Amino acid sequence: MASLPEGFEDLRAEVRDFLAEQRRLGTFEPRCDNWHVGFDPAFSRRVADRGWVGMTMPAALGGGGRSAVERLVVTEELVAAGAPLAAHWVGDRQVGPSLLRHGSPEQQARFVPAIAGGGCYFALGLSEPDAGSDLAAVRTSAERRDGAWVLNGAKVWSSHAHRCDFLVVLCRTSPRTEARHDGLSQFIVPLDSPGVRVRPIRQLDGRHHFNEVLFSDVRLLDGDVVGRVGEGWAQMAAELAYERSGPERFLSTFVLLQEALKHPATGGPVREVLARIHGLRMLAYSVARQIDRGEPPSLAASLVKDLGTRLEQHSVSAIAAIASSAPPHSRVATLYRDAVRLSPSFTLRGGTNEVLRSVIMKGLLSG
Ligand SMILES: Cc1cc2nc3c(=O)[nH]c(=O)nc-3n(C[C@H](O)[C@H](O)[C@H](O)COP(=O)(O)OP(=O)(O)OC[C@H]3O[C@@H](n4cnc5c(N)ncnc54)[C@H](O)[C@@H]3O)c2cc1C
Repeated sequence: MASLPEGFEDLRAEVRDFLAEQRRLGTFEPRCDNWHVGFDPAFSRRVADRGWVGMTMPAALGGGGRSAVERLVVTEELVAAGAPLAAHWVGDRQVGPSLLRHGSPEQQARFVPAIAGGGCYFALGLSEPDAGSDLAAVRTSAERRDGAWVLNGAKVWSSHAHRCDFLVVLCRTSPRTEARHDGLSQFIVPLDSPGVRVRPIRQLDGRHHFNEVLFSDVRLLDGDVVGRVGEGWAQMAAELAYERSGPERFLSTFVLLQEALKHPATGGPVREVLARIHGLRMLAYSVARQIDRGEPPSLAASLVKDLGTRLEQHSVSAIAAIASSAPPHSRVATLYRDAVRLSPSFTLRGGTNEVLRSVIMKGLLSG
């Protein structure tokens, strides 16, 4: 039966003390969706200094050697507080675990300690102009030439690629056949390689976290391939499960909910959202226990993301009446306006909810 874990009160208290201290020092301003938009290397290093980056990675490689449940205790506190986590998030959440599963010993020795130290940042190069939900349609390709791989093509929507050190690229290494998922591979591409160009895509409000990344004859070596050539699809699918089950899929607006609770007019709709968040936390902990047991979490992880991101969007409308009656420069109104602007992306990133539902359906039918 699903339940919240017991026995982690000291760890939770430690994270809360850290966050209270950081707020007192003014090192961050709590914001909605700050795990994704708040890119702050200095904050990431402070989190890493406490041992909260690379928590589940082996101690021999500079990680914490702790469980996925313990990582969830820490991450839910950090995300709920609206702390800026984007710099280390992708490396900690999925690239590190993926390298531990599929990477060579050299890659593990090079990247895992750097990720756990909070100073090595990764962006994701999956989507392309004609390949989003239909990711197997990617056209970016790496060709074998003179003992190396030569990468050409373009990726789009790569969050924070202009600030990261590496881009994990999914590309074709052999021509597309009827078996569309075959012949795809993953590479770790240093973003300062000759032939890589990162171009900003600005949002309507002028902010910049999206990028287009263009590759023109980028030379890569065998040591840059993650796992096995041609098996990128299966590796990526396993990796995405880590992307889908965390607290960032239901706590992106928690800072706003907390602010709304201070308002005298807060009523049923906000409290109902909080009750539903409690249910999602239990589901997320059950996924973390699955990961700790070494079981593949893809079905339940997709459920967390589908239910969680729709709840995040609903939470914004649940606060609309409170926000519109508050003074325009009050904190609740300011956070609300930000959440309205951000919320359409909640159900798109990491695979749209329509696609997730087909993953859930296929998982249920194959059971
Ligand atoms: C905030 C944010 C951050 C992102 N960061 C990254 C990143 O760092 N790296 C990266 O590679 N990508 C990133 N993305 C891109 C994201 O993964 C894609 O936007 C997403 O996969 C959808 O692809 P698309 O935009 O091409 O839409 P499309 O695939 O064109 O979909 C358009 C609409 O059609 C629906 N649809 C498509 N196929 C089906 C189907 N078979 N059945 C039912 N409905 C369907 C979709 O659900 C959607 O509503 C990010 C996106 C957002 C919003």
